[in-house]
Amino acid sequence: MRLANDSGACIRHHSASLIIVERSLAMSLSAIAQYIFTDDTAAGRMKTITWLQAQGLLANTMHCNICSTNMDMVQRNREGTQNDKWAWRCPDCSSIKSIRSGSWFEGVRCPLNKLMYLVYSWATKRSLSQAIGDVNVGKKMGINVYQWCRDICSWTLVNGPDIKLGGPGQIVQIDESVFTHQGKNKRGHALPPVWVFGMVDISHAPALGYMEIVDQRDAATLLPIISDHINPGTTVWSDMWAAYNGIGALPGILRHETVNHSRQFITGTGVHTNTIETYWNRVKLSLKAMRGVRRESLPSYLDEFMWRERYGTSTQGAFQKLFEQIAAKHPLP
Ligand SMILES: [Zn+2]
Repeated sequence: MRLANDSGACIRHHSASLIIVERSLAMSLSAIAQYIFTDDTAAGRMKTITWLQAQGLLANTMHCNICSTNMDMVQRNREGTQNDKWAWRCPDCSSIKSIRSGSWFEGVRCPLNKLMYLVYSWATKRSLSQAIGDVNVGKKMGINVYQWCRDICSWTLVNGPDIKLGGPGQIVQIDESVFTHQGKNKRGHALPPVWVFGMVDISHAPALGYMEIVDQRDAATLLPIISDHINPGTTVWSDMWAAYNGIGALPGILRHETVNHSRQFITGTGVHTNTIETYWNRVKLSLKAMRGVRRESLPSYLDEFMWRERYGTSTQGAFQKLFEQIAAKHPLP
């Protein structure tokens, strides 16, 4: 890549960018955030750009729309929310293109380094108020970036491998739980409860789950969800909820065993639903840590929880996977 400043003088940039990428790979996540995303100088902004290019999130080369010439990256010091301090410029006709052209970041009214710091903060579960304070951006921008991250989670769960739990010799516990949120409608009436149906595979530690918000808790609603998300040969454990009566007859289910909670918490043969109870507690605690979640946002927070179980058990892993998935969802042209 050829770099030029506003006066047109070019410097070789390739070796410098390689050093940045190599150094960042060996760094801890917090060091990356400090080293790359919080340096507001033009050189600092270039570190963010180079890092994003290495992740496949910004184009490494750009061609002029008018003359098809390979464009140069030049320093630009223009005011504005999208001022990245660098842009592409055609050496022949001098036309300018944003370094964000064709990327996930195109049109977002926030400097790239701050945007990246917010994404990093989401991955490391830093609270929204702390994150926006760290880089001094508006609350609305922070809320949007955190929502975009959860959108990537939802996209990955839908487009990734099918979520299947259990298998031969494995036990899956199922249950429904009410997620009631403080909230009233315009006339002051409490909003109806939100029910979530859940399943956990207890062969994982902690148990690996699947959740879905349900309008009804009848067999017609719950049995198809179980069928869709269970591997053949699984044993299902549940309480005595009537809608579960048909589980044993579902294709692929090896056995359905129940515990009668009006009599006991664990049967003589060891059947219980303690693991999914613990799972509900974990999910609800994580929502509480986000200081409550609006009803309409609940699906995306449940997706985030399921995503972190699968892709983000460490913050470093969450950060890396998120970027791989952003690149997959928004491939460069
Ligand atoms: Zn041109």
